[in-house]
Amino acid sequence: MNPLLTAVLLAAALGFFGYTIVRRFQPLLALRRDDRLDRIGDRVQALLRFGFGQKRLLDPEEFLPGLLHVVLFAAFLVLALRTVTLFGMGFSESFHFPLLGPDSALGRGYLWLKDVVVWGALLSSIGFLWRRLVTRPDRLTQSWEGNLVLGFIAGLMVTEIGFDHYGASSALGAACFWIHLVIVLLFLNFLPFGKHFHVITALPNVFLRSLPPASSALRKLDLESEGASFGTRSIADLSWKEALDVYSCTECGRCQTYCPTYVTGKPLSHKAVNGALKHHLIEQGPKLTALARIADKAAREAAMGELPALAAGVVEPDTFWACTTCGWCETACPVLIENIPRLIDLRRQQVLVESAMPDEAARVFKNIETQGNPWGIGSNKRAEWCEDLNVPRASEGGDFEWLFFVGCAGSFDDRQKKVSRAIVQILREAQVKFAILGEEETCTGDAARRLGNEYLFQMQAAATVETMNGHGVKKVITQCPHCLNTIKNELPQFGGNYEVVHHAELISRLVAEGRLKPGRAAELEGKAVTFHDPCYLARHNGVTEAPRQALAAVGVGVREMERNRRTGFCCGAGGGRMWLEEKLGTRVNQNRVAEAAATLGDQGGVVAVGCPFCLTMLKDGAAETGNDEKLKVLDVAEIVALGLPKRAGA
Ligand code: SF4
Ligand code: SF4
Repeated sequence: MNPLLTAVLLAAALGFFGYTIVRRFQPLLALRRDDRLDRIGDRVQALLRFGFGQKRLLDPEEFLPGLLHVVLFAAFLVLALRTVTLFGMGFSESFHFPLLGPDSALGRGYLWLKDVVVWGALLSSIGFLWRRLVTRPDRLTQSWEGNLVLGFIAGLMVTEIGFDHYGASSALGAACFWIHLVIVLLFLNFLPFGKHFHVITALPNVFLRSLPPASSALRKLDLESEGASFGTRSIADLSWKEALDVYSCTECGRCQTYCPTYVTGKPLSHKAVNGALKHHLIEQGPKLTALARIADKAAREAAMGELPALAAGVVEPDTFWACTTCGWCETACPVLIENIPRLIDLRRQQVLVESAMPDEAARVFKNIETQGNPWGIGSNKRAEWCEDLNVPRASEGGDFEWLFFVGCAGSFDDRQKKVSRAIVQILREAQVKFAILGEEETCTGDAARRLGNEYLFQMQAAATVETMNGHGVKKVITQCPHCLNTIKNELPQFGGNYEVVHHAELISRLVAEGRLKPGRAAELEGKAVTFHDPCYLARHNGVTEAPRQALAAVGVGVREMERNRRTGFCCGAGGGRMWLEEKLGTRVNQNRVAEAAATLGDQGGVVAVGCPFCLTMLKDGAAETGNDEKLKVLDVAEIVALGLPKRAGA
């Protein structure tokens, strides 16, 4: 239609776009290496499922906006071909791709599909504009940028329809054609400047995800070598993938919906952290680009030292200490952005380099270091809970199939000791050959690692692996999902490879195999029971049905809370928060207790749990809200034990 004008428009727009993209990505060359090209099959699968399949956008609770996005995404894919065709027509009016000519069946089919998605995209953009301007849901960030982009999309669709309708030979048709091309190029150049950068980065970000999830198995720091890493001080300590993550945030706010810190008024949300880091990354981009060019190590370290500390104004300590590492935000994020590892890296820097941490954290570290448990109770008392039960020790050299890893709470906390005893009763009833480590057991170090003390964690992890490998342990039962996560997902970093199950999983397995045949839990007859999913069981390890099956085995039906299974709500204790004061906002445990109380109704009932931290938090939350008469908090093992015959020594 006008080759010269088309060529000038394209050259100018692509030139500027290329310049911006180089400026955005060049700084990433200065960042930490992180190899993400292993397990290609799994990556392609994730790309198909979460990228092209848009899996996380179609959750039932927010189905309509998800569907509108899926329509826009489908239109984006289908119209990519049409856009190239239109630019081709700018050079030669009859341009079309081979096999897609207007007279071929394939070409006609494509044009039909194109018309469908154009109308779909137009209606979706109007729907999104309505949502932004009229219904205005809380999780959206209101910005002129979002409205402008929707205007671009609507404009593209209207001009496409106009060009199609009036044809190139009419003045109106030609005007639609050129306006359409100009909007495409403006839109393209606008992308890298705001949240719509995700149009470019989201699919690569999904493909380059952590495998396995880095939040369940945190990165092992090399603390010994010359280039030892101690977490994140400045933006230069991020990995290139963490930078790609922040570029990919769509600001959709799905991460905030069930984030315990956001919901209870603390200064942390995944979206806000992304926003702050992205702004800072762009601001510091030129310095990072210069850093990438410095070959001399000392000079490079000096230049890094001049970059501002993130903890001083970008992501404040109150923000990164607030995280319970519950994993909701990462479960919800449609573009698979990780949050927990980078928050822990900020804690690591504070603890390992700055010695700046909450006093309670310092106390917990000292207790684990000296006594092998966060309470600081004498390590020689670790097996007192089972003094009268004659439980076999692995060190006795007997034949055992399972190691029951009791954990610190199960060994030292008076309330949780009852759960340990119930588990022993169940194992004996099912004639499971098991042993415990007794005084040889020590804290797995989960809280130490998540509170940033990687030194202490590595000491604990190495000691646990040495002990368990020394006894030839192959299979492990835990009653604490945090122990489970560490032993299963993190000890392989130290040479400890075991089959690890939560006690609820073993119980449901024993019932299914007919080895455990509990009767009805008569004491709970007529009582309403709900189940609180522990984050480290349901979200971090995907175990949601086993506890429900275990409860069903004693005739207990679960009345579900609205936030359940992988969309459960944290009790507030994960990520080492169990040991820290909760000074900001409202209390997370009280929020969850209110939901449990509403679910169980006026008569109250039982909140079943499968985690010592959840048990403590919900029990305390019930007391704090005056619900302790109405709500009884029991572990799944205690409930199953109610259906077993009482035997001596159990
Ligand atoms: S891990 Fe949980 S507490 Fe931390 S930011 Fe994500 S949703 Fe919030
Ligand atoms: S981090 Fe993910 S879920 Fe949160 S706003 Fe960004 S894209 Fe949405």
